[in-house]
Amino acid sequence: MLYRIALTGRAALAGFVKGRLQMRIAIAGFMHESNTFSSSRTDRAAFAEQSLVFGPALLEEWRDAHHEVGGFIEAARADGFELVPLLMAWAMPAGPVADAIFEEITNRLIEELRQQRPDGLLLALHGAMVAESHLDADGDVLARLRQALGPESPIVVTLDLHGNISQRLIDNCNAAIAYRTCPHVDQRECGRRAASTLVRMLRGEIHPRQALAKPPVIVNIMVHDTSCEPLKSFMEEARTLERQPGILAVSLLPGFPYADVPHMGPSIIVVADNNAELARREAERLGAKLWDARERLVRKLPDAATAVSQALNAQKLPVVLV
Ligand SMILES: [Zn+2]
Repeated sequence: MLYRIALTGRAALAGFVKGRLQMRIAIAGFMHESNTFSSSRTDRAAFAEQSLVFGPALLEEWRDAHHEVGGFIEAARADGFELVPLLMAWAMPAGPVADAIFEEITNRLIEELRQQRPDGLLLALHGAMVAESHLDADGDVLARLRQALGPESPIVVTLDLHGNISQRLIDNCNAAIAYRTCPHVDQRECGRRAASTLVRMLRGEIHPRQALAKPPVIVNIMVHDTSCEPLKSFMEEARTLERQPGILAVSLLPGFPYADVPHMGPSIIVVADNNAELARREAERLGAKLWDARERLVRKLPDAATAVSQALNAQKLPVVLV
């Protein structure tokens, strides 16, 4: 039983809904997509410019957002849990995160978890964050949060489809669930799915076990659109697999190629109910399929001069140069 019962005063009163103790779930986000080929650094000002909010202020800023954190907040009412808002840090994709702000945010999260002692944690990560001294910044944050929270409290993580996922990240959370679409139109829904997974865990209804497969390919950014082949079929297969008994979530992330890190590349994460072997088998099966499709994951693109010349001679307008 994971619910905390040592609540006092107002917290105790607020904790009882319809005669039962309400679970307290911490929500937080620490998100960056880091391009290691960029000479820029993403510093505190870069986060402050977009979102760097602490405590209840994050609820106001993110409640209505088409974002997984908006989904976490919405789920609190639907799934009947008390929100413990910790912080939200989000900066525009750019060069690696400066160590100073990486440490500040990570340490603040650790402090908050130690003080608040929630029943569980919902954490929005991007999955492709690199800091100056941390090639696997997302994995390192989670490892430190897991240590602060202890092994018993569940952690469910949401991920952008462009995350480069490490085994360290998977080892330090109970379930990781990624967006299903690119462009990302299901972010809020992703947050709700993560919240529902955590709530079902806390109620003892499910016992997630997850596995990661990393086929050794690079998925060209030009084939990431999930409404087009080849990814369309892969996403449909993931949804079919999710309907099988014992499977809780299937994520297929093409990854972020502009990161020179060991765990760069696509990731398949399968979360199964109390069945690590099933998760491993299905993740590896999908990973092998992606490997078999590798020829279709390549796009031949014109170089910059050719692209400009093609644009100038285009018969159909507008032309977008990317
Ligand atoms: Zn993305």
